[in-house]
Amino acid sequence: MKPIRFFQSIQAKLIIIYLLMILVALQLIGVYFIKTLETSLKNEFIENRNSQAQLLAQYAETYLTENQENKNSDTAKKSYADLNDFVNGLFATSKAEIQIIDANGAVLTTTRPTNQSVVNSKNTQTEVTRALQGIKDNQRLFTDFDGVRKIIIAKPIGSGVKVLGAVYIIASMDDVYKTLTQINNFFISGTLIALALTAGLGVILSSTITNPIKAITRQATAVAEGRYEYEEKIRVVGEDEIGQLGNTFNFMMERLREALSLNEEEKEKLASILSNMNDGLIATDDHGRIMVINRRAKQILQVNEDTTLGMPLGELLGMPQEKMQVLEGTEDHSTMLHLYHEAEEDPLFVKVTYTTIHSKGSTGTIAVLQDVTGQEKLDQARREFVANVSHELRTPLTTIKSYLEALEDGALEEPQLAGKFVNVARNETERMIRLVTDLLQLSRLDSKQAILSKVTTDVTEMLEEVADRFSFQLEQRMIAIEIDVEKHVDEIMLDRDRIDQVLDNLVSNAIKYTPEGGHIRIHAGRRESSVLEISVQDNGIGIPRKDLSRIFERFYRVDKARSRNMGGTGLGLSIAREIVKAHGGAIQLESELGQGTRVKFTLPYQQEEAAV
Ligand code: ADP
Repeated sequence: MKPIRFFQSIQAKLIIIYLLMILVALQLIGVYFIKTLETSLKNEFIENRNSQAQLLAQYAETYLTENQENKNSDTAKKSYADLNDFVNGLFATSKAEIQIIDANGAVLTTTRPTNQSVVNSKNTQTEVTRALQGIKDNQRLFTDFDGVRKIIIAKPIGSGVKVLGAVYIIASMDDVYKTLTQINNFFISGTLIALALTAGLGVILSSTITNPIKAITRQATAVAEGRYEYEEKIRVVGEDEIGQLGNTFNFMMERLREALSLNEEEKEKLASILSNMNDGLIATDDHGRIMVINRRAKQILQVNEDTTLGMPLGELLGMPQEKMQVLEGTEDHSTMLHLYHEAEEDPLFVKVTYTTIHSKGSTGTIAVLQDVTGQEKLDQARREFVANVSHELRTPLTTIKSYLEALEDGALEEPQLAGKFVNVARNETERMIRLVTDLLQLSRLDSKQAILSKVTTDVTEMLEEVADRFSFQLEQRMIAIEIDVEKHVDEIMLDRDRIDQVLDNLVSNAIKYTPEGGHIRIHAGRRESSVLEISVQDNGIGIPRKDLSRIFERFYRVDKARSRNMGGTGLGLSIAREIVKAHGGAIQLESELGQGTRVKFTLPYQQEEAAV
């Protein structure tokens, strides 16, 4: 906000108002007072001079009457000298000149020593002439050549019709005007002092009004600029309107801060919910442009916030506008996205659910993104599994059926052929039994129904027994077997039957996929002191690298025909993995095509008593 200049401020205006009011009041009083005083002083001065003239006229009358006849005699002269002394003694002032004039207008005496030359000369002033004619009130105010204001008063001497002479007074009114000027000056200086005091008081008094207003303005500006943390309590002095305004504003700010912090809390809550949600969430505005995108959504789509905000939702999800509109129009507002990210091999399956929200006249969309890759894979695996099981069961069943049909069609008559056919049918049935048994076992391991009954087992003895079980096959195929048990391999607690099953599977695989004259090595050793590691290694045909990652999958076989011919179900390694897992261990397979295969699994010595 622009700062207000002092002369534009309320404070200056208030001070100016005070000053003008004082000035007007003082001026009115001053004009009225000075005018009255001037009139009164002047009137008093004139009255005094008039009464002086009147007094003098009465006094001079006796002199003039006595000397009427013997005008130029010595007695008369003496008498005039007396009158002169008397007038001088009583009325002489430096500021006035008094002349006694005879009936002819000749000056008999004058009080001004410097003006004695006028004696015996004629005073021709109009006022004197008028007085000599018997007119009583003759006075005139005028300004002399030297700029001094003066008054002339002339009074006739003598009572009745006969006028003996006149009293002539010319007096300066300088003193009256000086007094007036002095009073005027007092008044002006008084006015100036009053104005200065008023200005000072005005600053103090107006600040009691303007200070809270300034504080309120500062607060309001801070709020307008979004600085809600700006905390300045308005100082409330008194309970007047400004005080009430200050109190109300303080209260309002408190409420506003409370409301804001509540809002902030809500926002934080929402933000933390959004960022910790397991599902991705994208919100768009009226125009379908992205306003909010949470952490999970960015993770799923592998984008960053800066580039996505403001982008149309369809563009981000790689969906054309028409498709988006159709989706928003249908009842099931969800669709499936297959996202192919650079770093990942498999696509990501993302379920996107749209919800349209109408709020305060605007329409936005909320898209919830759920990563359903796991679920999708599971579904796929389940579908594959059912297909595999059906296929695995169908093959032996078809074989059995065709052999039974052949028997029916006459082969039964030929005992040799019939025997062969029955044999095939039995083998296929056994295969099916094996398959179903394996499936049942897997299902038990999957549903964690299988309970491990562990017994303390001597590892060397266990491995030797495995070799013994396969000795006939080994001999037949001329495959050498070597058992190598490290020194500190102690007895271990394990479910003997199940681990035997694992070992049998691994050794039988090694025999199956190793050409005649090959070599198998079973090795047992300790890893990290608390783990037993057993490995079965052969120098057989090996497994191509591309199949390695899927080798533990159910029904996965590198060479399907060969495996089936050898009686394999394709479930052996998956069962082995489940059993090892149930013991708290892990299984790994390393293989080099044409070089051989090594399968190793670990079993911890300290196993939790777990139901699998
Ligand atoms: P199967 O019953 O077919 O033996 P498994 O689950 O035991 O099923 O093995 C899966 C597949 O892994 C086999 O079909 C075979 O292709 C491959 N395989 C397993 N062990 C070996 C091995 N030692 N050498 C070469 N291939 C092997």
